[in-house]
Amino acid sequence: MFGNSFFENLHGGFSGNSSSNRKPDNKLYNILGIERDATPIQIKKAYRNLARKWHPDKNINNREEANKKFKSISKAYEILSDKKKKDIYDKYGEEAVNQMGDNNMGHDPFDIFNSVFGGMRRNNRPKSVEPIVVNIKITLEDVYNGCVKNIKIPKKKVINSNGIEDYSGINKCDKCDGRGICNYIMQIGPGMIQQRQGKCEKCRGFGYKLSKNFKEIKFTENITVKIPKGSENDDKIVIEGKGNYDHLNEENGDVVLIINLEENQKFMREQQNLFYTKEISVFDSLVGISFIIDFINNEKLKVDINEIITNETIKCIKDYGLPLKNNPNIKGSLILKFKIIYPKKINDKQKEILKKVFIKKKENNNDYDISVNVTDYHTYEEREQRGGDENVECVHQ
Ligand SMILES: [Zn+2]
Repeated sequence: MFGNSFFENLHGGFSGNSSSNRKPDNKLYNILGIERDATPIQIKKAYRNLARKWHPDKNINNREEANKKFKSISKAYEILSDKKKKDIYDKYGEEAVNQMGDNNMGHDPFDIFNSVFGGMRRNNRPKSVEPIVVNIKITLEDVYNGCVKNIKIPKKKVINSNGIEDYSGINKCDKCDGRGICNYIMQIGPGMIQQRQGKCEKCRGFGYKLSKNFKEIKFTENITVKIPKGSENDDKIVIEGKGNYDHLNEENGDVVLIINLEENQKFMREQQNLFYTKEISVFDSLVGISFIIDFINNEKLKVDINEIITNETIKCIKDYGLPLKNNPNIKGSLILKFKIIYPKKINDKQKEILKKVFIKKKENNNDYDISVNVTDYHTYEEREQRGGDENVECVHQ
């Protein structure tokens, strides 16, 4: 009658002596997407990838979900990156770690993030290699369908006299200890000094020097990258570990791709909606029109409008916009606008027919003081652009 639950309650949720029988708790490993035998470097890498992806500042549209994920990623990393906590977790599970009574438990997820990414690196660790930034052009069709792009990455590496990639000939600058920046003290007045940080003068900010017989060469690496549906102009895609080798941190830097969306001749994008302007005749505007749109997914859309269309008419075709970035199953709308093209002139016979069709509203045309001349209107700027019309020329003569 005193079964497992009694025992568990007594021990506050975990049973210390049943470690050999209990199923291994993989939850924290699953959160970071790693195996139980992951090395500390792999654990850190997994955390870096996920924490970057789910940082709440980067997920403005789904902040709530991102907050939750960011918290659980941080907690998993906090435990698995600490050898003592990891040992207890591996043996007894998460509850046991929570009950360690460790004052250092439950750090703010943002503090953990800053210690891995920002703060520590800036102060104690050598400067990380700059990411390689590459602009990629994509079309509206790419945004609609998603796509895979082959991209040439301009890279650098150090080779030895045999032409083999080799970083043993790099010597850390002794003045700045490889950081590329130094503290300089300046006298700014009698008994007054100011400390200033600046580029190391000895290595010109590189942090290292090459030995004889070693040289840095440029080369190109091809990588394939998936562009997600719904991508927007200026979106950044970070590809970790594909950048230049960082000999100080002994890891590869990142590649940052910046999306440049090319303009489309037919469709104009506004967030997830597309705008399409159809030119129609006066006749079409009065009797309605049927036309076909070659859509970006290669479908031909037949549109029938059986009503009077003006320049202000706006119609909407639902679900024929662009997919949402975070939920590609949802699409925006295709919004139709119209531009009525008027004839340059009509003749008297046509006028007579139109008079018969449209009942002309009688205007009071008899009560006036003077009948004035009407000419085309051009602004001053327009006249300048046209090289001056008669009026302007008159002034110069
Ligand atoms: Zn230096």
